Amino acid sequence: MFICVHLWLSAALALHAAEPADAIWTARYVVTMDAQHRVIEHGAVAVRANRIVAVGPQAAIDKQYTTAHRLDRPEAVLIPGLIDTHTHAAMSLFRGIADDLTLQDWLEHYIFPAEARNVTPDFVGWGTRLACLEMMLSGTTTFTDMYYFEDRVAEATKEAGMRGVLGETIIGFPVPDAKTPADSLAWTEKYIQRYRNDPLITPAVAPHALYTNSAGTLRTSRALANKYGVPLVIHVAETRKERDDCLKANNATPVAYLNSLGEFDGRTVAAHCVWLNEADMAIVREKNVGVAHCPSSNMKLASGVAPVTRMLALGVHVGLGPDGPAGSNNDFDMMEEMNLTADLAKVTTGDPRSVNAEQALEMATIGGARVIGRERDLGSLEAGKLADMVTIRLDRPHAVPMYNVYSQLVYALKASDVRDVMVDGRPIVSDGRSLTLDAAVILQKAREYRQHIQDSLHTTKEVAH
Ligand SMILES: [Zn+2]
Repeated sequence: MFICVHLWLSAALALHAAEPADAIWTARYVVTMDAQHRVIEHGAVAVRANRIVAVGPQAAIDKQYTTAHRLDRPEAVLIPGLIDTHTHAAMSLFRGIADDLTLQDWLEHYIFPAEARNVTPDFVGWGTRLACLEMMLSGTTTFTDMYYFEDRVAEATKEAGMRGVLGETIIGFPVPDAKTPADSLAWTEKYIQRYRNDPLITPAVAPHALYTNSAGTLRTSRALANKYGVPLVIHVAETRKERDDCLKANNATPVAYLNSLGEFDGRTVAAHCVWLNEADMAIVREKNVGVAHCPSSNMKLASGVAPVTRMLALGVHVGLGPDGPAGSNNDFDMMEEMNLTADLAKVTTGDPRSVNAEQALEMATIGGARVIGRERDLGSLEAGKLADMVTIRLDRPHAVPMYNVYSQLVYALKASDVRDVMVDGRPIVSDGRSLTLDAAVILQKAREYRQHIQDSLHTTKEVAH
């Protein structure tokens, strides 16, 4: 009799045996950013292949799943991977090359000439590796880029194991990888064909701005993006000068002018959107344009402040971006962008309730996913979504005590608190170290580039003046 019961129990247990998972990560708090914004204390996320299969209390997940790859972080918060909606990764090699200047002076006298002399495929590869290293160690899992030789950006991003929405720059003067916009567009089409089905890379067309491109080039860029169903990435209404010049030349604001060209008739990521009026914001909302808010850059270049509080109230999709590391920021720290977004909204509206911590985290996660059109796959920790997630330690003095996890994430925790990162089901950072990129080699390369670039800048300055 005893044996019979024992056999029956064994059979019953076998029927309800735990399913295998490729990884289970547990943490003191799992901040899901799902539709209900659930925060699960003593939570866990189970992953199979590159997708999340379950999110819930640790006890429930452990009952349902077993794994050989388990990561327990009892003093950490587990969040969705951060989504950077605007940057120029390879410019990391120009970090701090010319600061405290106007945007026009910085671009025309330093960056454009320095780029003409230094930017090669290898430069872009090493600059992107340096950027990816910094981004992954600070919790970014997806970034949206705009630069030259974007195929090299794609290669380095894949090496890092990160995701990228990578836009090849189209601009109305000779640049390192093209003599004319037509050359750039032809190059971009081949680049799109090469990467359009890549699991980690979303190729994009990136006309730099309305003031650096003709109407014809802007229209052709849109047509190319739509031909392949890829996003278009562009700087929009960044400075007062851009808006005033556009009003003078076209009798329309930058947003109205671009809209009249049909530039927003397809997936668009518009960086900055500082100088928008009510009518502009209505267009952005109606056309479902994703806005990349770049508070560090807008502050550092004194560009102004994007009307983020108003845009969010209107239902505009707003994400965050650090913009360039070479004078307009100078880093890729999304934790800092969250903090600045919340603080800047308060000081400019005179209302400390503007952009609360939860909204700031939303912009850096699911909001950013909406901006790049990937909210079905990215931006929150939910069963069925791609497994991009980050643990952040809670055992340092500035993390204790904790009353509200959103407040801690946005106002107290630092990029350097990031401990582990997974992208597409693959761990790429473990205990604060990159598993995919060789940090020592990359830092050494960056130091070598510095001397070369410094020399070229001295020569360039003489030429420029
Ligand atoms: Zn930019």
